[in-house]
This record gives sequence, C-alpha cells and structure tokens, in this order.
Amino acid sequence: MSESKRKVALVTGAGRGIGKATALVLGRRGFDVAVHDIDASTAVETVALVRKFGVEAESYAADVSDREAMHGVVATVESRFGQIDILINNAGISSDRCPVEKVTETMFQRSIGVHLAGTLWTTQAAIAGMKRRSFGSIVNLSSVQALVGWPEGATYNAAKGAVLALSKGWAKEFAPWNIRVNVVAPGHTETEMTVRNDPPELRAEKAKTIPLGRYAQPHEMGEAIAFLASDEASFITGQVLSPNGGFVIT
Ligand code: NAP
Repeated sequence: MSESKRKVALVTGAGRGIGKATALVLGRRGFDVAVHDIDASTAVETVALVRKFGVEAESYAADVSDREAMHGVVATVESRFGQIDILINNAGISSDRCPVEKVTETMFQRSIGVHLAGTLWTTQAAIAGMKRRSFGSIVNLSSVQALVGWPEGATYNAAKGAVLALSKGWAKEFAPWNIRVNVVAPGHTETEMTVRNDPPELRAEKAKTIPLGRYAQPHEMGEAIAFLASDEASFITGQVLSPNGGFVIT
C-alpha cells in the first residue's frame, strides 16, 4: 500500500454527467481520482481525461447499490492509492415521473437502492480509513427537487430527501474525526439524465422558469462539489449548497 502525496478522491457515477465533470475538476485541481461507474467503458474514458492533468486516476466498475461490491471498490482504491480523502456520492438515475398510485416496488427499490443505499454503503466502506487518519470530506448529491417539492416524483423525492437527512446526521457523527459531510442539491443541469428525459422543447420551457434563463452545465456542479470537498471549505459541514440559477432562493 502506497501513501499518496496528493489527496485522493473517489467519485461514484463518474462515467458521465456531473460525476464525470467533478472528476475532471478535481483532477485539474491536483487530486488523484478513483473513477467509479456501473459502466466500465465510460469510467475508462473519464480516467483518460483526468490523467491529462498529470494526476493519477483509475477506473472501478460496480453497481453502487450493491453493498459488497462497493466495499470491494473502496478496499481496492485504498490498496491502490493508500487512502481516500474525498468521497463524492454522485451515482444516480432518473426520476420515475408518475402519480403515486402507479409507483411500483421495482421503481421504489431501484431509486432507494442507487441513491440512498449507494450513498450509505459507499460511505460505510470509506469511513473506517477516514477515521483512522482523522481526515475526510464527503459530498453527497441530493437534488433541488428535495428542497422545493416535486409532484409525481415520489421515489426520487424519497431517496434525495433521505440523502439530505443522512448527511446532516453524519456531519455531526463524523465531526469528532475531522470528517466533513456536505450536500450539493443541483438544479436543472444539462446531462445525459436530463437530455434523455426531456426533449429540447421541454428543456427550453423549463429554462424559462430559471432566473438565469438556462440549464447549468455539468462543470458548474463540479466546481461547487469540488469546493465543498476541498480544504477551502474546511469549516463547512452539514450544509446544503444548491446551484440552481436562482430557481430556489431561500
Ligand atoms: P447522468 O448523466 O445520468 O450520470 C449518472 C452516472 O451515474 C452515469 O454515469 C450512470 O451510469 C451512473 N450510474 C447510474 N446508476 C448507477 C449504479 N447503480 N451504480 C453506479 N453508477 C451508476 O446523471 P447526472 O445528471 O450527472 O446526475 C448525477 C447526480 O446528480 C445524480 O445523483 C442525480 O440524481 C443528481 N441530480 C442531477 C440533476 C440534473 O439536472 N442533471 C439535478 C438534480 C440532481 P450509466 O449512464 O452507464 O447508467
């Protein structure tokens, strides 16, 4: 096991979208990056881009909802890099939009499995190493949907709301070990997820409801996530940052 000189970040769901953008921002800022995704091929593509910043990166493929698999990923990352300083629990799937009467067990279990259990199992696996070194920063991805109420999104709302509560509890639970936990709750962001779900006309309509008048680009989420993850945010824990173009102002 080699102790890396650079800080090491593990980003889940980093084959595409916000996770990929976050891996790139972290690489540009000088972090070594463990790139995880369910799809090995997209993770490998992200790794190639991260390495262009002169840092180390490796890819890891697993379903984030699989507890054993994620414990295995974390153990392999720790063995390769020596430690995990930063954990970004980002992997996610689209919201199932339907009235509550139509929610199925499969929809519920998948959303809870990927968003909530995925966050739980990956953190559970990484926390022992962070506690041992009395250092860590965790950023969990929720959604603006969990802040404002989103009709016909029961399974997604349930999972992303639970991620908020989980994170606040962990912020207090892990603080004695100098481990910070924060949440990024993205607003509308142009990624494979939203492009797949919403045709261009619908995205244009939705953009009109955002004071800044457009969707975010993934790197804009990556910058917010990387800020909370980094030492620049060393006194920030238990907080929710929602880059949403003014869609929600509290
Ligand atoms: P995305 O473009 O679909 O990317 C999500 C990534 O996660 C993909 O690479 C996907 O792999 C991977 N993934 C999906 N299921 C997985 C699993 N079971 N195990 C491991 N990896 C898995 O989505 P995104 O828009 O970047 O979303 C990233 C996070 O931000 C999610 O948690 C999402 O809920 C949240 N968010 C996004 C928005 C938005 O407007 N985009 C708004 C609020 C919150 P495959 O593509 O190969 O399946």
